[in-house]
Amino acid sequence: MSLVQETADQRDRDGSDLMASRCKALAVQLARFPRVPLGHLPTPLEPMDRLSEHLGGPRLWVKRDDCTGLSSGGNKTRKLEYLMADAQTQGADTIITQGATQSNHARQTAAAAAKLGLACHILLEDRTGSNDPSYIMSGNVLLDRLHGATVSKRDGGVDMNVEMETLAETLRGQGRRPYIIPGGGSNPIGALGYVNCARELVDQANGLGLHIDALVHATGSSGTQAGLVAGLAALQSDIHLLGIGVRAPQEKQEGMVFDLAQRTLAHLGSEVEIPRADVRANCNYVGGGYGVPTDGMIAALKLLAETEGLLFDPVYSGKGLDGLIDLIRNDYFDGMENVVFLHTGGSAALFGYPDTFDLPGYAAL
Ligand SMILES: *Cc1c(COP(=O)(O)O)cnc(C)c1O
Repeated sequence: MSLVQETADQRDRDGSDLMASRCKALAVQLARFPRVPLGHLPTPLEPMDRLSEHLGGPRLWVKRDDCTGLSSGGNKTRKLEYLMADAQTQGADTIITQGATQSNHARQTAAAAAKLGLACHILLEDRTGSNDPSYIMSGNVLLDRLHGATVSKRDGGVDMNVEMETLAETLRGQGRRPYIIPGGGSNPIGALGYVNCARELVDQANGLGLHIDALVHATGSSGTQAGLVAGLAALQSDIHLLGIGVRAPQEKQEGMVFDLAQRTLAHLGSEVEIPRADVRANCNYVGGGYGVPTDGMIAALKLLAETEGLLFDPVYSGKGLDGLIDLIRNDYFDGMENVVFLHTGGSAALFGYPDTFDLPGYAAL
């Protein structure tokens, strides 16, 4: 081995040791917060070689947060580990939360409440106006009810925080001790789940000797991205993080993420500053609006199902993938070797959208 090669190897080892010690320090910071184990962690990090070959860009990987285990999995499980622990610390006996009709957050909250022996009230906001029986009763709504949650509807556009407060007041009047979890579990407590994910992913890649250039995922209520921004900043990681928006326009989405990331770091007791430029959301793949299918989402979801055997969802991860694929085709990741897509789950929602995919019937063989 040449001297140059030996020095380069030594540099890699030093860098890797440094990152391992930063991951440990962040784990110590996180350990000060109560957390109930709900997810199967760490989730796998897997290559998507057939997709990479098909697209011909960087090597693509998937971080399998669809495999967190709780009621078919998803990104809300990591947030609920911290939120549910906080609810228990406060002596709550009832959880209240809200979401859109096919909310994955509502489903995972209902499951977590069931596992911990807490009552669960879910308010579902009708954001799409759809009366399709599958959309309003199947998919996540079926599972909410199976987990024993009490599910109520609210009209689109009402102030869901006020609705949850009003319900909490009623329940307190009945002698219950309710704990309100905001939509998507996105507050500084929930976002700790994605600080923890940033630590887990960086540690995992480090162990594999893998250098991650970019990390891409769907961003909605912003807790996932805010936690990742905060975690990567705390680790001084140079991973290029990009959220693909599913609802708000770019400026609003980035503003929400930036604000929550700063509050999350403050909650963590960290002095680290987040450069505003590290908060990136691309909101060009929303289409007709939140939860409204797009052609790009349909094509992306089918492509992944057929090339990788992976299931995504129509509202979040499918639109996130559409963004990933389109950006690869437009050379956004040029010069990068390894790009990770964070799979945030949600495939239970597929059963709420049975007619979206225009699939062939039985073959006459
Ligand atoms: C909630 C959700 C997201 C978005 O996460 P936020 O923390 O709300 O930004 C992405 N994908 C799926 C499947 C989700 O359920």
